[in-house]
Amino acid sequence: MEDLLIKNARSIDGNKKDILVRNGHIEEIASFIQAEENMHLIELEEDCYISAGWIDCHTHCFEKFKIYSDNCEEIGYHQGITTVIDAGTAGADNIEEFFNSIKNCKTHVYSLLNISKTGIYAQDELSNMDNIDHEAFIKMCQKYPRFIIGVKARMSQSVVKDSGDKPLFEALKIADQVQLPLMVHIGGDPSKIETVLENVRPKDVVTHIFNPKTNGIITKDGKIKPCVFEAQQRGVFFDLGHGSDSFSFDVLDIANAHGIKVYSISSDIYHRNRQNGPVYSLSVTMSKLLDRGYSLEDVIEAVTSHPAEMFHLSSRGRMEKGYCGDFTIFKIIEEPKEVVDSKGKKVMLRRYIQPVAVILRNQYIQL
Ligand SMILES: [Zn+2]
Repeated sequence: MEDLLIKNARSIDGNKKDILVRNGHIEEIASFIQAEENMHLIELEEDCYISAGWIDCHTHCFEKFKIYSDNCEEIGYHQGITTVIDAGTAGADNIEEFFNSIKNCKTHVYSLLNISKTGIYAQDELSNMDNIDHEAFIKMCQKYPRFIIGVKARMSQSVVKDSGDKPLFEALKIADQVQLPLMVHIGGDPSKIETVLENVRPKDVVTHIFNPKTNGIITKDGKIKPCVFEAQQRGVFFDLGHGSDSFSFDVLDIANAHGIKVYSISSDIYHRNRQNGPVYSLSVTMSKLLDRGYSLEDVIEAVTSHPAEMFHLSSRGRMEKGYCGDFTIFKIIEEPKEVVDSKGKKVMLRRYIQPVAVILRNQYIQL
């Protein structure tokens, strides 16, 4: 593997350094590193920023299941994301097929295994409690310990139907058994948001946190529900999970006013909301938060070090010696851009984030 020397590497704090990548890992970061003959030189443009490779921790890329799926490269490195985490599209019955479908991809792909052994073959995978098979779940976690990095449960009415809260408690038991973080999706009741937030463990992840539904984080009179503050206090991680129905600027604004912030920014992207909106890409999602009170540092941490911490990807997410040599190179375009949220609300951003290249698996790829 060739050494890479990245020159003119401007991090988000504005500092320009040289970065040497050896054997796929960051070997050295310094103000000046002498180029040597055997090094592949990458000279970044003046107006570019570089960060650790972006991680999208809520995507759907098991292409067999058409409801929510996409191609991992389309939502991955083509859009500047070097690591995608599939959030529960596959379950124990089909995780092997999913693994085989992505194993030659350039983009790094991980799975949060759905507690329904069926995965999301249909919208209501948790309406039948027989779909929850602890033994099969554990077996697959043992077989794919580096691929399965978490547990996924979709706790909303359209998914659980008459199963009510029962799948949530099964998910918590499973997550304890396999000692992995749990990501719970919230939506229509059941489960009530209070039930989810009061029962998940510290460091578990609740996704779709800024959804505009009545069972979301906001009370009827426009206040934050007390359970939200309590969960944040207990160390529960809030994830954005934009998706087709789950991001509202109005909810974001109220949350901002009360100090409720997401720890990770994810897209919940799949082919339809990528092609037709409102998601389009992780970078558009990031730009929405950048425009509304999140600093550039907040936004970049929310797609690098934070998701790496949440899902124990210990070699990823930081631009420091010893960490993985995947990077995203991007620009801040100081031009207005119209975007839309899940309710169809249009907002004119003052500026936006545009990925321009990635360094992935020791290769520089211009987008
Ligand atoms: Zn999803």
